[in-house]
Amino acid sequence: MRIPDIIIAIDGYSSTGKSSFAKLIAKEFGFLYLDSGALYRGVTLYAVEHSLIDSRNVIDEKALAEALPGIDLHFEDKGGCTMTYMGERCIEKEIRSLPISQKVSPVSALAVVREYVDRKLRELGSRKRVVIDGRDIGSTVFPDAEIKIFMTAAPEVRAMRRLREMQAKGEDVKFEDVLANVRERDYIDSHRKVSPLAKASDAVLLDNSDMTIEDQMVWIRNLIAGKFGNE
Ligand code: C5P
Repeated sequence: MRIPDIIIAIDGYSSTGKSSFAKLIAKEFGFLYLDSGALYRGVTLYAVEHSLIDSRNVIDEKALAEALPGIDLHFEDKGGCTMTYMGERCIEKEIRSLPISQKVSPVSALAVVREYVDRKLRELGSRKRVVIDGRDIGSTVFPDAEIKIFMTAAPEVRAMRRLREMQAKGEDVKFEDVLANVRERDYIDSHRKVSPLAKASDAVLLDNSDMTIEDQMVWIRNLIAGKFGNE
């Protein structure tokens, strides 16, 4: 199916499989995939490594704001996979670890951090034919995106998916801790002052608690065909 140069915004709760879905959409339609969460995670990694956030998640906001313009976060395509880089260094593994997941919500709640990430995303998205996943892409970053999807699934289903992913990478984690992190991130993401996680009024809801990724691809093909026709 051929589709015009559009922006596809995929928002929703953590661990709903937004990135897996977005990557497959990018592959199927020849779009560029942008992972906004990876940029927030990259800023968080920087803050942790430079001791700008403490064990109680108190952030040295002033120092972080000063450092932001110099943090060279970007994506590189490695054999069809989008990898996140900080300068020369691939940070893909570090940014997905539990310690970073536990600190990313307070860091991403800061207005100055959101401005930094939004600016980067708008630069990269200006070429269109992009699929971007996050929390506020359809509501704030690209309010004119032609397709907006809001994903949700039961917290237990999401925690189990995340646990399996982490175990596959050899991380030793307990289901209860992962579930607690999922619930905590839901709460912080939905209650922060700046750009809280919320479904844009024109976004289409996708609850994938009982759907496979193949079911979701059938769903998106139908959605796109309904909007642009079977060209
Ligand atoms: O999508 P991912 O789980 O990697 O995002 C990590 C965190 O970054 C989220 O829990 C959320 O706190 C933050 N985030 C955000 N806005 C986005 C994308 C991610 O606040 N657009």
